[in-house]
Parts: sequence; structure tokens; C-alpha cells
Amino acid sequence: MALQVHPDILSLSPYVPGKPIDELQRELGLTRIIKLASNENPLGPSPKAVAALSGAQDLLHRYPDGSAYRLRQAIADRWKVAEGQVILGNGSDEILGLLARTFLIPGDEAIMADHTFVIYKMEVTAVHGKPVVVPLVNWTHDLESMVRAVTPRTRLLFLCNPNNPTGTIVSAEAVDRLMAKVPDDVIVVFDEAYCEYVRTPRFPDAIAYVKQGRNVIVLRTFSKIYGLAGLRIGYGISTVEIIDYLNRVRPPFNANSLAQKAALAALGDDEHVAKSRTVNAAGMEQVENGLRALGVTSIPSETNFLYFDAKQDGRLVFEALLREGIIVRHIDGAMLRVTIGQPDENAAFLQALKKVLDGSR
Ligand SMILES: *Cc1c(COP(=O)(O)O)cnc(C)c1O
Repeated sequence: MALQVHPDILSLSPYVPGKPIDELQRELGLTRIIKLASNENPLGPSPKAVAALSGAQDLLHRYPDGSAYRLRQAIADRWKVAEGQVILGNGSDEILGLLARTFLIPGDEAIMADHTFVIYKMEVTAVHGKPVVVPLVNWTHDLESMVRAVTPRTRLLFLCNPNNPTGTIVSAEAVDRLMAKVPDDVIVVFDEAYCEYVRTPRFPDAIAYVKQGRNVIVLRTFSKIYGLAGLRIGYGISTVEIIDYLNRVRPPFNANSLAQKAALAALGDDEHVAKSRTVNAAGMEQVENGLRALGVTSIPSETNFLYFDAKQDGRLVFEALLREGIIVRHIDGAMLRVTIGQPDENAAFLQALKKVLDGSR
């Protein structure tokens, strides 16, 4: 008998992650591969996080603390919320899935931008919700149009701030206007995976809306500036009510024991975060200037990546860069995204891009 698969599932395709270094090494036999594809911290994690893992082998046969008490307490203290307002995920990705499973029934709508983080559409579709896609304007979320797209079926509104892949933010004033208009039965999801990199003071304080009791959730991750992408840990801050509903759906041991230990130590290392910001700011300037020198336009970014226009088939540029041992991300058409790396990695990327573009002119 043929498998019966819902058309919504048939409409999905597997998420294509940034190409792993090993895979490219195997394929091309290159010795040096530079991965600037997944917005990881090129400095790696805090040394304190690494130290916290020593001796962790003794924990491996035990289930983790399912309530992740210490880490949730530390996050709650950090943001001055109650411990019952914090949920952990196996990456903040998992929390996006929990939101869809908890709050959407088939046919419910979830508003999101285009382009934005692709996981929103995937999670909403997987539970037979309806992604309602609102185009970006000037590479930025168009909050006025997003709020106009709200219908009685709307349950979630995703705001990726800063936005992946464009690197742009929406300002505090724009978010205030959104929050004044959005109905209270729509949960606004502030996905702030890159907030620690933001430099403009116009960035909104989304946690303040949680404290006002608004129906919002703020998602943060240890995968980006904290350098722990391989351990899979992220968190959400919301109202006690929303966290309680999410906890009914959350798998009990979704935050593993190593991740809990490392994240707790990483959260306490402000120095490493500050250093990562400084290295990123310098690298951003290096890559922006380098792209400009090549005649390539990039979108001003508040993150650790740059979105740029190759003015030709971006897939071909992506593939040519792979042959140079540089992994970036092809987004769509002529647009690519490159993560800011260490200075030598940035220089190698710029040199390879120059070679690729010269070769195609
Ligand atoms: C990387 C990223 C995440 C977080 O991913 P996890 O590793 O699952 O925590 C969430 N949102 C955006 C926009 C991202 O780029």
C-alpha cells in the first residue's frame, strides 16, 4: 500500500543546512576549508563554557535535569523575570516548533516576512497552519503590512529581529506601533538570535512587552554569539501562561545535560561576549570595505553576517567559492549571505570572491 502523506508535508523540502566542512573536504580533497555559512562565532565558545564541560562524561548515563533548574534560574535572574517565564529548547529552533504545535490548529494563520528565517514556514506548514508571507521593504520587515495581514485566524506573528538573512532591524518605534495595533490573541514571536551583535540604540526592548503582560515571546540562542551551536540550546521568555502551555507540549529532556552546563557558564561570561562583538565589528568593517572595493553591494547589517548582491547567478558564485574552499550561503537569485569570520578568514573570502568575480566578467 502506498503511504498516505498529507499534501502539506509533501510541499516541504528538507532544510538545507550550511555545508559541513568534512563533506566539502571529502568532495574536493581541499586541505583548508573556511565555513562562513551558518553565522557561528568564529572565536568559538567562552573558555568558561569549555571548562564547565570537563568531567561531563560522568553525566552521560543519566537523564538531564528536565526542568533545567539552574540554567532557567540564571536566565530569569539575568532578564529580571520569574523562572516560570523561561523555557529552554534544543536550540531556539525547537521552541519555534513548540509554538506551532501548541498554538496552531489546521488552517490557522501565521504571519512572517519574505525573506526571513525559513524554519517559521516549515514549522507552521508541518502542523497544517497557513504561512502568510509579507514581502520585506528595503530588506526590512514591513510591520504596517504585517499587522494589516492579521485576520481572525491569525495566531502567530514572527518578527526576526535582526532579520536573517538580510541583517536589518526594525526599530523600537516601529515595534511600538505594531504592538499598539496587533490584537491580543495573536502571539508576537520576537526571534532575537543575533541581538547581542546589534549596535544601534534604536533596537527595541522586546522583554519589556513580556513584563507588561503582552502576549509575546522573545527567543534567544546560545548558538550564535555564545558559540555553542553544536550543543543545541536556546531559550524563550514569555508570560507564565504561554510558557505553561508550551511546557505541556515540550519533550521532557529537550535540553541536554552538557548544553545546560555549558550554557550556564557561557551566560556568565560577559567578557567573551564583549570580545566577540569587538572582533565582529572589526570583521564587519573589513568585509564591507572589501566588498565595496569589488563593486559588490551589501546591505548594512546589525548582525554577524552580510547579505550581498553578486549581480549574477548566486548559485554559480556559491559553487565557485566552494571550489576555492569557502562555504557561504546562497539565498536566492543573485543574493548571498556570508558570516563574518576571523580576519584571515575574511581576507581569504574576499580574495576568493575577487577571483570568482574576475573569472566571470
Ligand atoms: C540561528 C538562528 C536561530 C537559532 O538557532 P538554534 O541553533 O536552533 O538556537 C533562530 N533564529 C534565527 C533567525 C537564526 O538565524
